[in-house]
Amino acid sequence: MVSTPMGCDSVLFISLDSCRYDTFAAASSADVIPNLQAVAPLHRAQAPSHFTYGSHAAFWMGFTPGVAESDQPLINPKAGKLFRMAFAGHGGSDRNGFELQGANLIEGFRHRGYRTIGSGAVEWFNPATPTGAVLGQPFDRFQFAGNTWSLARQLAWIEAELSRTPTGQPVFLFLNVGETHVPYWYEGAPWPQRPSPCVAFGGEACDAVESARRQLACLEWVDQQLAGLLARFSRSTILICADHGDCWGEDGLWEHGISHAATLTVPLLLRVRGQPVVRDNSI
Ligand SMILES: [Zn+2]
Repeated sequence: MVSTPMGCDSVLFISLDSCRYDTFAAASSADVIPNLQAVAPLHRAQAPSHFTYGSHAAFWMGFTPGVAESDQPLINPKAGKLFRMAFAGHGGSDRNGFELQGANLIEGFRHRGYRTIGSGAVEWFNPATPTGAVLGQPFDRFQFAGNTWSLARQLAWIEAELSRTPTGQPVFLFLNVGETHVPYWYEGAPWPQRPSPCVAFGGEACDAVESARRQLACLEWVDQQLAGLLARFSRSTILICADHGDCWGEDGLWEHGISHAATLTVPLLLRVRGQPVVRDNSI
């Protein structure tokens, strides 16, 4: 079945949980993530926080990952935001951005007549806990996947939600992908789910090389799964980033939830109303 393409006003926001910048760059160089690469050029960006809640709470206020050394709007939200909440910080130059009003960007899109749909894979999106209920609460429809290896079920749920959206109504769709989060595993992966090669505070099972290999293989698998969704939003706005990275033994540190260049450096790809956002002064 061929899905109807979304219109240019719709928005797809994907957070690849814990995906390191160097994982994404290596996968790009190896040409194993063609669908993600087709969205836009890769930017080396800084995340607003080093753990899931912190970064997504910032995202909801329009503070998405950016390239700190660039003064180009959208590439650096400090210069101009893609999602601009009224009265939130310095105005900047928001060319082609979305101006939104409300308590967060999801509410802002709803006020503009959008249907807001979200799906989260990690526990910070689990509505069974008071803390986990916060990030998903603003959406018209929200799914918590239940574990970090549920992308196929998440995409099936999203497909059903999109099919229920009235023709012509724009969509704000958020997807948090868990396969790139520890233990770096996907359904059908040719390696055991446990032990994870990356655990907090290190230990016997920790292996930086294996962590890199498995996260890249997960990203490659995720790319294949996302092909249809990315194609469907190709005329729309697409923001793809990680919420944070992971430490793999740098300075003796492992995993995330700790402030370090390895947890704060993330991939960023941006496409606005069908047009890839290219850095003016690309290096
Ligand atoms: Zn996360």
